[in-house]
Amino acid sequence: MTTPAIALPPELADAARPVVNTLGHWTRVGNICLDDEVIAAMSWAARRYIVIEELQRAASAVIARVTGAEAGCATNGAAGGLLLAIAATRARLDPDRIAAMPGLDEKRELVLFASHRSAYESCLRVAGVELVVVDDAGEDPLAALAPHLGADTAAVFYDAQLACAGAAPPLPAVVEAAHAAGVPVIVDASLAVPPRANLTEPIAAGADLVAYSGGKAIGGPGASGFLAGRADLIASALAQQADGDVYDRLGRQRPPGPVQMGIGRVTKTGKEEIVGMLVALDGYLDSEEPACVCDLGDVEAALRAVPGLQVERVAKGGKDAIAVAVAGLSARELRERLLAGDPAVATVVVADRLLIQSTECMHEGELELLVQGFAQVAAAAS
Ligand SMILES: *Cc1c(COP(=O)(O)O)cnc(C)c1O
Repeated sequence: MTTPAIALPPELADAARPVVNTLGHWTRVGNICLDDEVIAAMSWAARRYIVIEELQRAASAVIARVTGAEAGCATNGAAGGLLLAIAATRARLDPDRIAAMPGLDEKRELVLFASHRSAYESCLRVAGVELVVVDDAGEDPLAALAPHLGADTAAVFYDAQLACAGAAPPLPAVVEAAHAAGVPVIVDASLAVPPRANLTEPIAAGADLVAYSGGKAIGGPGASGFLAGRADLIASALAQQADGDVYDRLGRQRPPGPVQMGIGRVTKTGKEEIVGMLVALDGYLDSEEPACVCDLGDVEAALRAVPGLQVERVAKGGKDAIAVAVAGLSARELRERLLAGDPAVATVVVADRLLIQSTECMHEGELELLVQGFAQVAAAAS
């Protein structure tokens, strides 16, 4: 497919320069480069009107097929999905409760294990919940969880990625404990795919709602995502995300006053994102895991040959990464200079170390560009 000529506003010149991505599918560098098929699907959707309600019904069918869940809905990223998931467990299908969100005076607590705390907590609190953190460092984390499951608990929040390394019990055991107390379980599976098995495992383990990113490994647009789970909770999520009056949608007479939309309207998902995400998800199932043009070992070897760089293999969150330093520059200065360079290289600083953590988003020929970018910054600093 040929790309039509685009007249970019001149102000975009800097932002539109090529950037070598060593972060992986991170939002700050635009998540992912889309396949032609996904771009074509988005452009198909862009040229027509589509009844969003019908599109979400189709999304539910695709998501149900892929995850084994009863139902699903397209969301605005996994973070938007988590907001809808918490809102669904709090307000269910009661329009009065939906209209009272996020200040609803019931189901105010979201319970999570300490090892599942993450950078996304503010996004969870948007749904009006207070986070109740349960210590899972002790002998019996399930026993520590039990006293926190009560009438005011909206849900237990479980991070499927952190669960691999953390102390929290496996998902089936947490689901059993939560369900015994009548509390649903929401799983953040944003970073848990690949492996593909994690498209079905949280549902098979009994999770009530599972949030996925469309714009990470699945290959959909960066602002897309989806929820999979129980039909009644998905119906609540959709009622709270939809454009229109929740009383009308749920068949109740609205009290006097203006139309009441749900809290999820702030995370609306456009037709282009929904269609792009569904085509990517469908294609992801029968595609091979894409081969990388190089691996961290290649990057490490190439950078070791560059004068002025200190290169070290390190561990980050259970995975390998390469730490690079230049004498006289802080890690942050090095990151900024690499990003401002030509060629530009995007890296991340963790605990005062500059890291190259992934080659999965590097394209053909970019190892050479990466080396050039580092060599120029090192030469300028010496
Ligand atoms: C990326 C990420 C999110 C947010 O996903 P978006 O699709 O960018 O909204 C949430 N949780 C975890 C663990 C993530 O890695």
